[in-house]
Amino acid sequence: MTAPQPVEGDVSDADPAEPASTDAGPVRAAGPVAASDEPASTDAGPVRAGPAAAGRVAASEESEPARPRRPLALSPSRATDFKTCPLLYRYRAIDRLPEAPSALAVRGTLVHSALERMFGRPADERTPDLTAAELPPLWEQMANEYPQLNDLIPAEELPAWLTSAQDLVRTYFSLEDPRRFTPEACELAIEIEVGDGVPLRGFIDRLDRAATGQLRVVDYKTGRSPGPDFEAKALYQLKFYALMIFRMRGVVPAQLKLIYLADALSLVYSPTEAELQAFESGVAALWEAIVRARETGHFPARQSRMCGWCSYQPFCPEFGGTSPPYPGAPECGSPGGGDDEDSSTTAVETERSGAVASSRASERSAEADEPESDEPESG
Ligand code: SF4
Repeated sequence: MTAPQPVEGDVSDADPAEPASTDAGPVRAAGPVAASDEPASTDAGPVRAGPAAAGRVAASEESEPARPRRPLALSPSRATDFKTCPLLYRYRAIDRLPEAPSALAVRGTLVHSALERMFGRPADERTPDLTAAELPPLWEQMANEYPQLNDLIPAEELPAWLTSAQDLVRTYFSLEDPRRFTPEACELAIEIEVGDGVPLRGFIDRLDRAATGQLRVVDYKTGRSPGPDFEAKALYQLKFYALMIFRMRGVVPAQLKLIYLADALSLVYSPTEAELQAFESGVAALWEAIVRARETGHFPARQSRMCGWCSYQPFCPEFGGTSPPYPGAPECGSPGGGDDEDSSTTAVETERSGAVASSRASERSAEADEPESDEPESG
């Protein structure tokens, strides 16, 4: 195991039992967390949240357009889409125009899946070699089940592509020691209404719980960490999840942690209750704007540098394309409602079903190609 590296910033990567001060903003850290940084092990293994990655990636390419429509709800990715460009939001969330996953997105899913599986093994088997060794058979499983993925990653590029995925997995072990804790859940699908009926939906890569009950929300990124000016945008997703956890469990997560595997850096932040309440108001205002647009069909295009990563340029009037006819306002639903959910409670934490998993793949596919740091937080 790599020796501990110096922490970048004034505050160390804190144990959930001792949340870092929020005054200094997020903390950037390189290298493994210190002994006190991990929540206490739990006896039970992590919640296993569904099928392996194979189904996730391929589902986004093949079956997503055909899957039953769930009532519209807001996820961090779709919220970011609307803030970036309302037309992009419409194409993804309402028209659901298909987007084939990229090699980067598939690699991200493979890495996430390997890390998820790792936590399903006994602690002493959570090693870099064993985890990296999972990747070729995982890929084989994906490619056998969905042969079209072979076109995405040609045979001559496969060895280097798999090696790059294994490098990312090995980097993870320079940032955390997974033998020292067991998450409460991996790949956790959550849904809840907040405020005056704003339906939120999301997938948490990992939820850790300390013996004290304090929670840590963790997200893995296979890209590089954002520059300091763009940390707020990077944290938006985790604040979104923190709000959901807060409203579901009545506990403000003690720590939000983004783990960037491409450059081996972690971004750690401790939100406050007041901050999450203010965040909730922002989410409600955004949802109100989406509901208005949904009713009128008015989703203006907003050009930005993100257009360079937008796969909808052929449909976009800003680029000489023609929008398909507006399919009409979709239903906005309660969490747990919809054709592919079987619960009607107001807050849902679920094992990931295949259909839910395809949503996850779609979000990851969209995220994987986008720059982490090119645009400031908008809206
Ligand atoms: S190309 Fe740009 S303006 Fe057009 S839909 Fe995509 S993000 Fe919006």
